[in-house]
Amino acid sequence: MRDSPEEMTVALIVAAGSGERLGAGVPKAWVPLAGRPMLAHSLEALAAAKAVDRIVIAVPSGTPDTPALPADRFEVEVVAVDGGGSRSDSVRRALAAAGPGDPVLVHDAARPLVTAALAEAVTAALEADPQADAAIAAAPVTDTIKRAGRDGGAVAETLDRGELWAVQTPQVFRRAALERALDVDSETLAAATDDASLIERSGGRVIVVPAPAGNLKVTTPFDLRIAELLLAERDAGPRSDPA
Ligand code: C5P
Repeated sequence: MRDSPEEMTVALIVAAGSGERLGAGVPKAWVPLAGRPMLAHSLEALAAAKAVDRIVIAVPSGTPDTPALPADRFEVEVVAVDGGGSRSDSVRRALAAAGPGDPVLVHDAARPLVTAALAEAVTAALEADPQADAAIAAAPVTDTIKRAGRDGGAVAETLDRGELWAVQTPQVFRRAALERALDVDSETLAAATDDASLIERSGGRVIVVPAPAGNLKVTTPFDLRIAELLLAERDAGPRSDPA
C-alpha cells in the first residue's frame, strides 16, 4: 500500500468485449479457461501484484453477478462497472469510476496469462523514468513483418524486424496523461486498439518493457487451447513466467 490514496496504483481490467471470434455464446471474459472464467485469471494475478491497490473491471452492460468476481477473496478492493461500445470507451468508463489512484494500470481480460511479476515490472519501469507518460508490456517480434493491403495482395514494404514489438497489456500510465489521451472524439476513441497509441499521437513518451510472448491474447479457439496448455504447465511445474 502507498502512503496516500492518490499514490495508490489502480488497475483497470477491460472485460466488456463480446468475443464473437471465440463463438462461445458468452462474453469472452466469461469463457471457461482451466476451469474458471477467463477474467478470474487476470483478476487473481493483478490482485497479487504488490503495486496494485484497487481493481475496477469494465464488464458487458447488464452482466449479472458472476463467479469471476469473488471480491471478498482479495485483499484489494474490486468493483465492476458497465463497459462501453469500444475498448477505449470501456477504459474511460472504468477510469471514471476508479476513485483516486496514480499511476493507472490497464489490462485486457483477454490476456489471462498475465502475472503479478509482469504488472510489477511495467509499473516499476514507469516509476524509474520520470519523463515517461506510459510504460507498456511488449514482446520482440520474431516473424518477418510485411505491409500489404487489408485483403492481402502485393507487398508494399518489409519492416525492420529489429525495431518491432508486439504490444500487450498491462500498460501503466500517469493518470493525467491517460485522462488527457482519452479525452478525444468517439471516432478516435473507437479506432484505438490500445491506450498508449492515444498518448503517442499527442507526442507523449511511451516506453516498452520486454515481456514474455506467452502473455498471449485469446482471440480464437486456437488461442484458447494454447492458453489451456500453458496454464496447465504453469500449475504443474515450478512457477515461472510464460516464455
Ligand atoms: O476486441 P479486443 O480483443 O481487442 O478486446 C481487447 C479487450 O478489450 C478485451 O479484454 C475485451 O473484453 C475488452 N473490450 C471492452 N469493451 C469493448 C470491447 C473490448 O472492455 N467494447
